[in-house]
Amino acid sequence: MQLTPSVPNHGNVTANFTTFPNMLGAIDENNNKVRPRKGDKAICPFCFEKVIAVCGDINIHHWRHEAINNCDSWKEPETEWHRDWKQKFPKEWQEYIIEKNNEKHIADIRTNSGLILELQNSSISNLTIQIRENFYQNMVWLINADYFKNNFQIRSLVTSNLRSLDNKYKPYLNQNNNIEDGLKDLNKLLAEYKSELNSSTDQYNRIQNLISDYTNKLSTIENIANELLTEKYHYGIFRDFNPESISNILNYNIRLVVIEKEFKNRANQINEIVCLPNSTIKGFENYKVVSFEQVSPKSFYKCKVVKTNTINTFFPEVIEIRSESNYRWYLSQKESFTLLIDLSNHLSKLKLEKENFEKEKKELSLLKEKTFTDLLIDIENWLIELKKEEQKNLNKIANSIIHLNENLERTKVEIEEERERLIEKAKRINKKLENEKKEEELVIKNGLKGKYSFYWKYRRKSWDYAACPLFLDFKDHIFEIVLENELKKITQQEFINIIKNWR
Ligand SMILES: [Zn+2]
Repeated sequence: MQLTPSVPNHGNVTANFTTFPNMLGAIDENNNKVRPRKGDKAICPFCFEKVIAVCGDINIHHWRHEAINNCDSWKEPETEWHRDWKQKFPKEWQEYIIEKNNEKHIADIRTNSGLILELQNSSISNLTIQIRENFYQNMVWLINADYFKNNFQIRSLVTSNLRSLDNKYKPYLNQNNNIEDGLKDLNKLLAEYKSELNSSTDQYNRIQNLISDYTNKLSTIENIANELLTEKYHYGIFRDFNPESISNILNYNIRLVVIEKEFKNRANQINEIVCLPNSTIKGFENYKVVSFEQVSPKSFYKCKVVKTNTINTFFPEVIEIRSESNYRWYLSQKESFTLLIDLSNHLSKLKLEKENFEKEKKELSLLKEKTFTDLLIDIENWLIELKKEEQKNLNKIANSIIHLNENLERTKVEIEEERERLIEKAKRINKKLENEKKEEELVIKNGLKGKYSFYWKYRRKSWDYAACPLFLDFKDHIFEIVLENELKKITQQEFINIIKNWR
C-alpha cells in the first residue's frame, strides 16, 4: 500500500503510529531476527533504517521506524488487525521480503509452498490490485470487512433455496383443490338429479291434484251435463268433448220449444172457439155466433146469416151465403144480420193437431231424458278416460322418481368413494412430493452449506478486478468469494488451515 503522503510527522508516537510502516520483526547488527522488547532498537530488514520497539499494554509489541522513510511503498499503515493475523502463522512466514525484477516488497505472509497472503485493511484501486497480483503471482487476499460490512448484504443460499423450494412445492402439496376439482363432474350430476327430482315431484303433485279433481267431478256429473248444455264447460278439460248426445239434446230443446208454442197456440184457438157463444137457433146448435170481422170472406161456405131481428122469434130467418161477394154484401149490412159459423171441423182439426203435438212432446221428452242419460255416460267415460291417462302419467312419474332417487343415492355413494380415492391419491402424491422435497432439501443443505449470495448496497468495483482468491474477514467468520455473487463461509481456523495447506 502506498503511503499516504499528506500525513505529517509530529514526532509524536501516537500520531505516527498508523502512518509509519510498522513491523513485528526487525534485525540486529548480526542480521538475526529480533522481537521487540521495551527500549530496544533494531534495523528494518527491508530499508535498513532504525526501528524502535513499541511495547504497550494494549497492542501487540512491534517495531516502528524511527523516522519517515520510504520503507516498502506498498505497505499500508499497520494495524492491530494486521499484526493479529500475522501472528497466527509461523514467525518465519511473517513479513517475508521478496526481490524480483529489481523490485523488492514485504509480503505479509509467505508459506512454505510459496503462497503469499496479503492482509488488506483499506480500499485500494484496481490498478494496485493488478500490480500486486502480477508481482506475487501465487497469492490470496484477506480483506478486513470491518469497514464495509454495512455496505454488504449477504443471504444464506441454503435459506433462500429452501424458501424457493417451499414456494415451488406449496401449490402441489395442497391437494384439496384437486379433490374438489376431481369431484366436479359427479357433483354436477348429483345437482342435475336433484333438480330433476324436484321438478318430477312437482309434476307428481300436480297430476295427483288433477286426478282428485276428476274424482270430484265424477260425483257431480249431472251438474256438469247441465252446464255443458248451457255451454259453460266448453273449455278446459271439456274443450274437445263434443258427443252427439249434446247436439241431439240441444236440437230436441229447440224442437220442444216449437212444439210447446204450437201446442199452446192450438189450445188457445180451441179455447177461443169453445168460448164463442153457441147459436140457439134450432137445427143450428153446432154453429157459433161471431162478428163479421172475425171471419174471412173466403170461409163464406162455413157460414150462415140470420136476420138479427128474427133470432128470438119462433121462425128465425137463416140464409145461405152463396159466395165471397155475397159475404161482403152481408158484411155491408152487418147491422141487420148476425153471422153464424160452423167450426166443428176446424175444432176437430185443431184438437187433433193439439193431441199430435202433445204426443210428440211426450216422445221427445222421453228421448231427451234417454239422451241425457247417454250424455251422463259420455261425461263419465270422458272423465274416466282423462283420469286413466293421468293415472298412467302419474305411474310413469312415480317410476321416474324411484329411478331418480336410485341414481341420486348411487351418485352420493360414488362421490364418497371417489372422494376417498382422491384423498388416497392426494396422500400418495403428497408423500411422494414430500420425499422429493426432502431429497431436494438435502441436496441444497449439502451442496450449499456455508454458501451465501451477496451484493453491495453501493458497489465497490475494485475487487472485481482481483484475479487471485479473495477472503473477507468478518471477525466471527471468513467469507471466501467463490463466484461473482457467491460466498463460502468458513471459520478462522479453516481459513488458516487452507493457507497452511495451500498447494
Ligand atoms: Zn524499513
